[in-house]
Amino acid sequence: MLVMKFGGTSVANCEAITRTIAIVRSKLEQKPIVVVSALSKVTDLLYRISDQAALKNESETAELLEQLRSRHIGLAHDLMADYPSHCHEACLKINEICDRLESFVRAVCALGELSDRSKAVIISTGEYLSSNIICSAMNAYGIRTGFMDARSMIVTDREYLKGEPDSAAISARVPGVVAEAYSGNDAVITQGFVSATADGEPTVLGRGGSDYSASLIGMAVDASAIEIWTDVDGVRTADPRKVENTRCIEKISFEEAAEMAHFGAKVLHPLTIEPAVNKNIPIYVLNSMNPEGKGTVILQSSFIDDGVKSVSFKENILVINIFSTKMINTSGFLKKVFEIFSVNKVSVDLISTSEANISVTVDASQKITKVVEELSEFADVIVDENKSQISVIGKNIINLKGLLRQTFAPLADCKIYMISQGASYVNLSFVVDREVLTDAVRHIHKYLFEDESCN
Ligand code: ASP
Ligand code: MG
Repeated sequence: MLVMKFGGTSVANCEAITRTIAIVRSKLEQKPIVVVSALSKVTDLLYRISDQAALKNESETAELLEQLRSRHIGLAHDLMADYPSHCHEACLKINEICDRLESFVRAVCALGELSDRSKAVIISTGEYLSSNIICSAMNAYGIRTGFMDARSMIVTDREYLKGEPDSAAISARVPGVVAEAYSGNDAVITQGFVSATADGEPTVLGRGGSDYSASLIGMAVDASAIEIWTDVDGVRTADPRKVENTRCIEKISFEEAAEMAHFGAKVLHPLTIEPAVNKNIPIYVLNSMNPEGKGTVILQSSFIDDGVKSVSFKENILVINIFSTKMINTSGFLKKVFEIFSVNKVSVDLISTSEANISVTVDASQKITKVVEELSEFADVIVDENKSQISVIGKNIINLKGLLRQTFAPLADCKIYMISQGASYVNLSFVVDREVLTDAVRHIHKYLFEDESCN
């Protein structure tokens, strides 16, 4: 079985969906399980709807809900103009989903209160709409397709907006649901991003979580491969929006991909890799606008050459500097510090320590007020804002001659606030001022990937 996940841009409109269905058709022999995101920008729209509802803005909310409905009804007509009965069936579904959402949102509006659970219901609607339309269109175009509700398969804890998947429960449920939906069909389809607790309460996997859905399903059915179809030609040596002359990477290891996804590369959801690694399932990152392209394949490390694969970055991070003389010559200080991060669910990226100081980086989107408060009870804490983190990622980079010179030579005039190299030798990371980030990444990329004379 082959898991094929199509992101928002691959299902954005009639043209994109037609292309996507052609791609699925070309792989029917491999028994595809299709996982779809919401149409491009629809999840953002649903976030706006939930925010406006919480503010009791009835007319604004109604207008946005109308946009949601008309975009999907319009799409169904575009896709199935020649298949009136399929179109009718899809429109019934769309109206049913939108009606249900509208009454739910009206209730939120009336109360002016939005729990995480209610928000999960609202923001997951996009995937139900897209998967229903695409399922009808596939059937209209002659691919017999079975529909699956992700809530019957993807089990998480009660963290409604960023559910933690329960691998054992997922592995137990998915094969049965897939087998049943497959009977008499050529393909099956389900929603990315959408999940539920063991007793069926709605949750979602967090922004960009459809990739994660795909790899969890891949794990559960022991898929031959997981394909992540997006709108770029695979994983690149750096973010092309910041850096010129980036190249597509043909293959990378699971470890390299995990580091890249975590440290800023936008191609894959950071948690996608793990379920696939555990079962050694290759993940392909492919471009639905260029299906003939080779893309990038993510494989076990033994198939991958040593060397730098990418320069990734996180643009907006905080550095938390913790100073305490109590740390000198004592044990257990680190435990005390990191317990605070753990209890407050703040995830740490880089760590560097000296005798009386610990510095850590965290993503600026995290709420650190409580952490700082609790640390301040026994240490001096200074938080540096407007910093960025750059990571040079590649297998066994420690063995590369001159890597440090090549990485830091172009930064001779920049301040480097922290440096950290993990023991896995996959990642060399450091912190710079946010204002120099773009230049720094461009220069390093040039040195490492373009300019032979620098090597
Ligand atoms: N639709 C969701 C989002 O935009 C999930 C996804 O596309 O991966 O975050
Ligand atoms: Mg995505």
